[in-house]
Amino acid sequence: MPELSPRLTGLNGGGSDGWEVFYRARALVARGVEVTELTIGEHDERTDPAILDAMHAAARDGHTGYATVPGTDTLRDAIAARVAERTGVPTTRANVLVTPGGQSALFAAHVACCPPGAPALLVEPHYATYPGTIRGAGAVPRPVPTRPEDGFLPDRAALMRAAPGAASLLLNTPNNPTGAVYGRQTLEAVAEVAEAHDLWLISDEVYDSQVWEGAHLSPRALPGMAARTLVVGSMSKSHAMTGSRIGWIVAPEAVIGHLIDLATVTTYGVPGFIQDAACFALAEGVAREGRVAEPFGRRRARVLEALEGHAAVRAVPPQGAMYVMLDVRATGLDGAAFAGALLDAHRIAVMPGESFGPSAAGHVRVALTVPDERLVAAVETLAAFADSLARAPRHAARS
Ligand code: PMP
Repeated sequence: MPELSPRLTGLNGGGSDGWEVFYRARALVARGVEVTELTIGEHDERTDPAILDAMHAAARDGHTGYATVPGTDTLRDAIAARVAERTGVPTTRANVLVTPGGQSALFAAHVACCPPGAPALLVEPHYATYPGTIRGAGAVPRPVPTRPEDGFLPDRAALMRAAPGAASLLLNTPNNPTGAVYGRQTLEAVAEVAEAHDLWLISDEVYDSQVWEGAHLSPRALPGMAARTLVVGSMSKSHAMTGSRIGWIVAPEAVIGHLIDLATVTTYGVPGFIQDAACFALAEGVAREGRVAEPFGRRRARVLEALEGHAAVRAVPPQGAMYVMLDVRATGLDGAAFAGALLDAHRIAVMPGESFGPSAAGHVRVALTVPDERLVAAVETLAAFADSLARAPRHAARS
């Protein structure tokens, strides 16, 4: 067969992708073994039947043909209103492109901002798909490391050092995997770097409804930033609609104009019945989003409480999102070895920190996505396991 394009075969950048534990856990489940899966960010509650009823009614009413490529006027208006209300930045439907989920919005945003081969900055640790998304868009990922001691917040000097020659900077607040919520000071530093180096800012805000400490602040709302910011949004996390594949990009009108051309040659839009269901869900405003988010805030508190008094595992308390990062370096194992050993010994699956970049080495990420009692029991088992490893002679812990 002819050779495949390096754009495709190089998508994952070679090497281990850190998903072995996830796949091993799935294989065990397929064999009928009971595993507590605390790996990916998928709600334990399914999409609300009321949203499905709206979807069904829209489909039965005939909204099953091609929808307009940029999104329906009603949904674009609803998204613009949500964004304008929460950020104070004037936003109209001309600033909105509806996309099949936040993931395709991330890809489209990088296609929009990065010429072929351009370096694209991303804050590390980062959501697992980011480097592949950047490579897929023809750009070159340039990670900017952060430190657990700084709460995984990006540092102005590190950003400045990394910025020369880059086309874009990808941020994610509230953050997956770290749970960091960027405050005004951090975002002002980011804005300063973006202005100094004429960067596009790609702001992934798909967790904006899940904030446990402080408040969500969109960098698009900082003075002058709306002209260089593309915001990625999604209803996956805020409305438990992961499978509906519904998201958006909010950006300057001229950028949206070009992105509509891209959507025309890639997705050709999003199903109309899903857009109608999204309108139904958005019309219920923050009340519905609060209901969907609530279990994660509650479980976060329960997990932090369960870890008190355990010497070998230290939580990096998340201010937002549906995960808790745990520092397991005191066990003598790295994140991948710890996660593998935990799966073998206790049938509990967590993500190794290394799958999100080297700055998260020696950590594991726990998704708060199983019912409270089961989650607390799993975290207590994890902590006791970590304590036992830390007490064992080092050579034994490493074996
Ligand atoms: N960004 C982040 C940080 C995520 O965690 C996810 C999903 N886990 C996405 C984007 C993409 O979400 P979706 O495509 O479902 O909207």
